[in-house]
Amino acid sequence: MPPEDLKGRLARARAAMAERDLPALLLTQIDNVHWISGFTGSSAQVLLTAEAALIATDSRYTEQARSECPSLELVSLASSSPDAIVAVLGTLPVGRLGFEASSVSVRMHGTLREQIPGAIELIATDRLVEGLRLVKGVDEVARIEVACGVVDRAFERIVPEIRPGATERDVMLALEWHMRRDESADVSFDTIVASGPRSALPHGRPSERVLAAGDMVTLDYGARVAGYCSDITRTVSLGRAGREEREVYHVVLDAMNRAIAAMRPGVSGRDVDAVARDHISQAGYGDFFGHGLGHSLGRAVHDGPGLAPRSGITLAPGMVMTVEPGIYLPGRFGVRIEQDVLVTEDGARVLTHSPSHLMELPA
Ligand code: ZN
Ligand code: ZN
Repeated sequence: MPPEDLKGRLARARAAMAERDLPALLLTQIDNVHWISGFTGSSAQVLLTAEAALIATDSRYTEQARSECPSLELVSLASSSPDAIVAVLGTLPVGRLGFEASSVSVRMHGTLREQIPGAIELIATDRLVEGLRLVKGVDEVARIEVACGVVDRAFERIVPEIRPGATERDVMLALEWHMRRDESADVSFDTIVASGPRSALPHGRPSERVLAAGDMVTLDYGARVAGYCSDITRTVSLGRAGREEREVYHVVLDAMNRAIAAMRPGVSGRDVDAVARDHISQAGYGDFFGHGLGHSLGRAVHDGPGLAPRSGITLAPGMVMTVEPGIYLPGRFGVRIEQDVLVTEDGARVLTHSPSHLMELPA
């Protein structure tokens, strides 16, 4: 894996600050803190100005921050309360301080207002760093690909374990076991295993339901390696798939592949969503695809806006999106298939390689 390009990220953040006329920016959203600093602990804040980059944390994390963030100046806070940063801000020689509206609490905002000098104007910023994080560097894509390798190998290993008599929870535990043994991965979100009529629940939590011949079984799971996530869904048939199961599967698969084929720089997230949605609607299943087509993927599983009817984004090289259409027939069955896709200079490249054709497992 290439080393993380922390200098490049600092430069991009400073350019974005300059565009907004922000001489200083306080980062409190922890994924943003991780992205800009390389810190991996669970509590810290970063303060950026044109010249300075500070990471502030309390005694639980000072040693970790010292070793993980050599290019940032370390400030040791007296307490773990997010408000403790105010003591540092009080010394800022700047007129405007940006803060992250989505992660500063009303209480912390009140403290900032009360305690920093009146001459400093507080400016709410909206997903400034999240916007930068949408476009991944080569180093980040390499990490996502490692996480995709983990879910692909886990799929290969779980297929023989999906059999009549196993429960959804058995399958979930085995799947997570395979992932955690591989590349020391963590799971990137709670694994979904939903079988039979439960496969019509888009986010079915694994239950004690026993798998039986004739079930459609949906697995949606992800790995996190070196701070980056993968996210994959496959739906398999236990035994021979029925006529409608087969038809629905192919509508979903075609919708996914058409959407991926439409992905390239300059195309809007909304238009890619529409390619899949129109295909599903024309097949008569429009009422049964209720969620967006996909989301951005990176340090977080839901790393930012993606492919959806109201998406405001335009695809650019380096973005990584999930593409995950589904059709859910209540009380009967559901099918969802999900790939992780990198937008390239002239198109898109699929990063997950597990088979996506309809698999009919021995029952
Ligand atoms: Zn997923
Ligand atoms: Zn997803």
